Amino acid sequence: MLWKGRRQSSNVEDRRGMGMGGKTVIGGGIGSIVVILLFALLGGNPGDLMNTTPTNPNTHMNVSTQEEELADFVSVVLADTEDVWSAEFEKRGMVYENPKLVLFRDSVQSACGAANSAVGPFYCPGDHKLYIDLSFYQELKQRFQAPGDFAMAYVIAHEVGHHVQTLLHSEEEASPAEKRTNEYSVRFELQADYLAGVWAHYAEGKGYLEKGDLEEALNAAHAVGDDNIQKKAQGYVVPDSFTHGTSEQRKRWFNKGFKTGTLKGGDTFNAKSL
Ligand SMILES: [Zn+2]
Repeated sequence: MLWKGRRQSSNVEDRRGMGMGGKTVIGGGIGSIVVILLFALLGGNPGDLMNTTPTNPNTHMNVSTQEEELADFVSVVLADTEDVWSAEFEKRGMVYENPKLVLFRDSVQSACGAANSAVGPFYCPGDHKLYIDLSFYQELKQRFQAPGDFAMAYVIAHEVGHHVQTLLHSEEEASPAEKRTNEYSVRFELQADYLAGVWAHYAEGKGYLEKGDLEEALNAAHAVGDDNIQKKAQGYVVPDSFTHGTSEQRKRWFNKGFKTGTLKGGDTFNAKSL
């Protein structure tokens, strides 16, 4: 994907330097202030330290250049989703509210509770934030065999899709009892895949896609299909326990969104076949 030098979102909340308790590890931001205070207490001149403190509050001493690049990439993708959804909402006479994207490391606290990286990227409707540990990029590549920047972009666009669903109250079309069913969960997740496809349609229209990008996203959608994950984990498939849809379904709905490029056509809840 062509992304370097493009607009980055201002809605990224970088918590990579923070532990679960909100304690900041030495680095920029609050960490620097703590260090400076300590330094001052020890009799030093804080001014000396100030000069050597990174000016970017998001800078973390252990952050590799590669991870910084990934953070920039994620921020550009988020900015793209802001553009496409603002425009789509405007067409419907609505105002799109940008979600925040929280970058974290290992574990994080959200309005939906505490979570660790093992759960993968997620969206919390309670605080309208996406939560991503950038190490998921490696996991996509190694565990899911879905490498490539566009695979990661698909994941972000899918989580943003859940935000769009929240704003559109997609989930209110179902009764509480219905919502607890696997069938409902699958339809809900496939709609987020469709919405990720709508974003990809926009990215293509802007000329951001490179050769192989669409395949990377489709491959990722396939890799995270319930049947594929179950087959890998336990060697067999239990369709009744699906929560996200099969590899084929996930690919199909992403592709559908990619082809149509509009909110219309993404009604997975009333679709006769998925
Ligand atoms: Zn999802």
